[in-house]
Formats: sequence, C-alpha cells, structure tokens
Amino acid sequence: MIATQIELFDTKSRQLQPLQSSDGKKLRIYSCGPTVYRDAHVGNMRTFLLGDLIIRLAKYLGNEVEFIQNITDVGHMSEDFVEDKMLAQAKAESKDPFEIARIYEGRFHNDLKSLNITAADLYPKASECIQLMHDLIKKLIDTDHAYVGSDNCVYFAAQSFAGYGAISGNRLDALKPGHRFEYTEDGAKRFHADWALWKAAAGRTEMIWESPWGAGFPGWHIECSAMSLHYLNQFVDLHLGGIDLRFPHHENERAQSNAAINSEAVALWVHGEHLLFEGRKMAKSTGNVILVSDLIAKHLDPLSLRLCFLENRYRSQMDLSWESLKAAHLLLQRWREKTALWRLAKGSDTKQAESFIDEIVTDLTADLDTPRALQKLRSIEKAQTLSDGVKFKIFESVDALLGLDLLKSPAVKGELPENLKKLFELRTAARIAGDFAESDRLRDLLLENGVSVKDSKNGQSWDYLL
Ligand code: AMP
Ligand code: ZN
Repeated sequence: MIATQIELFDTKSRQLQPLQSSDGKKLRIYSCGPTVYRDAHVGNMRTFLLGDLIIRLAKYLGNEVEFIQNITDVGHMSEDFVEDKMLAQAKAESKDPFEIARIYEGRFHNDLKSLNITAADLYPKASECIQLMHDLIKKLIDTDHAYVGSDNCVYFAAQSFAGYGAISGNRLDALKPGHRFEYTEDGAKRFHADWALWKAAAGRTEMIWESPWGAGFPGWHIECSAMSLHYLNQFVDLHLGGIDLRFPHHENERAQSNAAINSEAVALWVHGEHLLFEGRKMAKSTGNVILVSDLIAKHLDPLSLRLCFLENRYRSQMDLSWESLKAAHLLLQRWREKTALWRLAKGSDTKQAESFIDEIVTDLTADLDTPRALQKLRSIEKAQTLSDGVKFKIFESVDALLGLDLLKSPAVKGELPENLKKLFELRTAARIAGDFAESDRLRDLLLENGVSVKDSKNGQSWDYLL
C-alpha cells in the first residue's frame, strides 16, 4: 500500500508530523533563501534541495503547492561587524550594492537549474518588500510587541511574546545579550534579548529607506515574517531552512509572526542539517567552499552532487568529498546507460512495477528516506527476477521524484579542446611510427591536463579524469 501522507521531523515539537494543507486547497510552503552578496555554495544547495524534494513528492501525491522563497538583498549584517554583507561586497567589487545583488541572484537561479531544483512560485526580494515590513512593524508597535528605542531603532520586545524559545529551546532569561548587529547602542533597548526590526541609518548612506521612524533599513528577521504572511495568506504549512537558522532567525521570526496574527503562524518547522566538506562545515569563513561551477569545471555532472545529497538523509550531517562526487558521477552514467537499454524492452508487468514504485514513494513519505530509496534502486538494477521493461518503468517513475535525469542519454564526451586534440593526434602518429618514448611522454602530458588515454587493438581512446 502506498502511503499518501508525508511525515516530516518538526523541529518545534521534536517529532514527526504530517504535512497538511490547512486551508484544504494547497500546501503553503516558505523557505529562507540566499543572501545574494556572493555565490551560493553547495552547502546552501543542500538546503535548497530539501524544498524541491518535498514539493516533488507532494505534487506526485496529488497536492497543489504554493512555494515562496525570499531573496535577502538588504539587512543581513555580518555577526562580528556592523557592516551589511551586501555593502561590504559592493565595496570590495567597486559596484553598486543592487548590481551585486542582481548578479548573484542570477547565478543562484542558474545553480538551481543545474541541480534540477524546481523554481519557487515567487522569489520576493527584501529590497522590494520594505512597505510590507513597515506595515508589520507598525502592527507590532500598535499591539505593544515592539517599541522605538532611544537610538531610533525599532525593537521587538522579546518578553511580550510568551512562547519564545519553543523552536530552539533557548530561554529568554538565560540568553546572553543579542548579537552586536541586533542593536546600535548599549542601553537603547529595554531588554537584553530584544532585537531590531528597523535600524536607524545612523551614518549609513546606501540601501536605506524612509520610514515612519526615520531613514533606515530592516533587521534581518522581519523580512521573512512579512513575506511569508503576506504571500501565503497569513499561514505557513511548512517553513524550511538550514539548521543554523533555527536560532535566532526562526525563533525571532516565529515571535514576530505569531504576535502579528495572534496565533501560531507556522505549522511545521523543518531544518536541513549541514553539509561538511572533507570533515568541516562548508562555509565561507572556514574557507572550504565548493561551488556548482567547480564541479562543472572538473567535468562532473552537477547532478552527481544531487545524487550525493540523496545518499544521506536531509537531517543528518553529511560529509562530501571529491571521491564521493566521482562515484556518484559514475553511478549516474551507469544508470543512464542501463535505462537506455531497458527502454528498448517491449511491454512490462505494470502491476509489478507499481508495487516497487509505491514502496519507494512510501520510503520518501517517511521523513524523506532517500538513502533507502536509492538502496532499493540499486537492488532493482541488479535483480535477475525483474524484466528490463519493469526496471525501466520503475526508474522512469522514481526519477520524477528524485530529479536525477535518469532517462537522459548517457553522456557524450564531445570533442577534446583543440590543444589537447593536437596532443592526442601526435600520440597516434608516434604510436604508428613505433616511437613509444614520445607516445609515453604525450600520454603523461595529456594526463597532466586531466585526460586519460587507453590503448587497445583498435587504437587509443580518451576520457576525462574524474
Ligand atoms: P545564506 O545565503 O548564508 O543566508 O544561506 C542560505 C541557506 O543555506 C540557509 O538556509 C542556511 O541555513 C543554509 N546553509 C548555510 N551553510 C550550509 C551548509 N554548510 N550546509 C547546509 N546548509 C547550509
Ligand atoms: Zn528567513
């Protein structure tokens, strides 16, 4: 029997919960998006893939989905500095901060496409939602959840929200004073854990807006409350993000949103665990950042990254390495070669295929057990009791959920770049002439350039070194 209900681990209740549409019409999903002052790294992509997997599955099971993901292009301060990340990067590249934002936003969309991550229905930009944020802040001030501090910044009054801490387990009285970027001057806010909703411009001259409280710019957390409530009609069935956003970002967002609508604004909070690279969390500050373009430069299919992610459950930390990417690249190739052959088989036992497909769908509904689903595909690939037609049907259907392009023609290598083609031809000539020292030298030279050559009775062939 196929399971038709998706269950996900909810960070707030700390247990599996069903994903349900609260209005009986569609699932309303919100995911925190990228801060567009630099290229998103593949760790960010792991978190963005989470939404795609859930949405593919929900649609497969017949749900209608509305999915919103924000673009943070203002207000995300670095933790140790009073400078906005966008402004700092604009200075470093001698460009206008909005130009920086649009460049990296475009690249973010390209990366999503390379990984077959389905686009959201809307990508609202923080800089274009300032009025929405003002409206929300006004409402919070009117209901005594927010106040203007002596530094002209508007603060959320943390103690005014009784349920603070439910997501992260942090208690207000045990919290240390907020990060420096949450306030401007000591003593300007009433309580140490209050955070800024609107920051006064002070000396800042770029990326500032007029507001009822003077010129300034939004705090980071308010944009997600304003956008999720506005674009999803005042309730979110599922809120997604990376685990590092659990606190303070999501805790503060929950306080703001719940205070604004005077009830629980989000049904499920689901967080993706971090991606490590060769043992350490992938982060710009750690210096171990890998981009989708780095994979492409190494002739790896970007979907090999997607396959690596699927080999691990979204809520366990995973360690990526070039070795695992190469193995995934080869597995993808093998599966595509096999589906191309299986496709030629005539007829198949549809019932038999469907029972395997249902089993895999059921694994995915159980908190996205993608490793188990892949294990099943591996056994199906090898099963001698299953016909090629059945195997094709299973791989074809499951690919709609996993997004690995398993039906794509096996990779054609294409032509070698001109300079390497020349070396390859010279080596053919050297072999014909019996000059094996020269042939070896050219083989080593090609190897240094990432191309391996193989000799056989039919001559030499080449492949990219992975
Ligand atoms: P940012 O652009 O830094 O705001 O991050 C965008 C998303 O990526 C957020 O949901 C983060 O939680 C998530 N994220 C950041 N680093 C990692 C990582 N190493 N692994 C998985 N997700 C991450
Ligand atoms: Zn957010």
